Amino acid sequence: MNKTASSSAPAIETIGLTKRFGERLAVDAVNLTVPAATAFGFLGHNGAGKTTLVRTLLGLTAASSGEMYMLGHRLPAERGLALARVGAIVDEPLFYPHLTGRENLRVMAAVRGGDSASRIPPALERVGLSARADDAVKTYSMGMRQRLGIARCLLCDPMLLILDEPTNGLDPGGILEFRKLVRELVEDEGRTVFLSSHLLDEVEKICDAAAIVDRGRVIAVGTIAELSADDGHTILIGSSDPQAALALLQGRPGVAGVELLADGLRVSANGRIDPAAINDLLVREGIRVWRLEPAHHSLEERFLQMTSRLEMAA
Ligand code: ATP
Repeated sequence: MNKTASSSAPAIETIGLTKRFGERLAVDAVNLTVPAATAFGFLGHNGAGKTTLVRTLLGLTAASSGEMYMLGHRLPAERGLALARVGAIVDEPLFYPHLTGRENLRVMAAVRGGDSASRIPPALERVGLSARADDAVKTYSMGMRQRLGIARCLLCDPMLLILDEPTNGLDPGGILEFRKLVRELVEDEGRTVFLSSHLLDEVEKICDAAAIVDRGRVIAVGTIAELSADDGHTILIGSSDPQAALALLQGRPGVAGVELLADGLRVSANGRIDPAAINDLLVREGIRVWRLEPAHHSLEERFLQMTSRLEMAA
């Protein structure tokens, strides 16, 4: 990749970014920093505000207030400079169906200008479409169209790719191909990929870091490991008598829930759990404890926990 723009700046930065549609706050004072050369997930349920943030960054809709930067360029003042090195797919990539993949890229290269046309063969090669490049797009599978969309993004040698719900409609094979391609774009070529998704599993497998967005607000941000880490509120217990342990722990002050699992109990608390106190309690009642450990959550569990907590608080 040719790094002529500000490669040390965050790929995306927003400060208090807000977008209202009338009374509705679709993007609510979002502070977000997406480091360069990472795959970054923007994760939220349907209607959380993901597409609106993407559209605002790309200048497809105006921000109501706040600041935003892409590749170190302030938006909207320096949009032209920023967009020269940004490739984006918002919604399903649209092509002329009767033209071939290569012809579609030629149309785009003519619009983009500069060196774009010379990047068509390597871009097709990069996404594994060289062999089908001269077939009409109407004969392409959804996965192939998605890859052609990425080839189109690559025509500007992007430092940043913004992909809105990129795996929508892909079959498992297409998702695997897409995942591999994104990792190569980031790890081998040092590009940044910002992808919005409601698919937690996808973000967990593809991305290095993510922000979780709920009702327009970013409610958590960190590496995937950080977001999935032990929060100190849940422990797993293996014991000689899980039923008796369940009866003992259920309803105790501070205990939010006890769940019987195939291999023991999962105990969640309202605050931080003191495993030693739980151990003492069980042992005093004659229950032998052979496993007591913090529960590690999948990102999915954390996501559901966080968003349902917010629902309860609302
Ligand atoms: P999805 O995954 O369903 O695409 P999303 O997270 O991308 O959801 P947005 O499409 O950004 O969410 O929508 C955020 C909120 O803003 C929703 O409540 C939506 O109804 C509202 N919204 C989006 N676009 C408009 C618009 N043009 N006019 C009015 N409200 C809008």
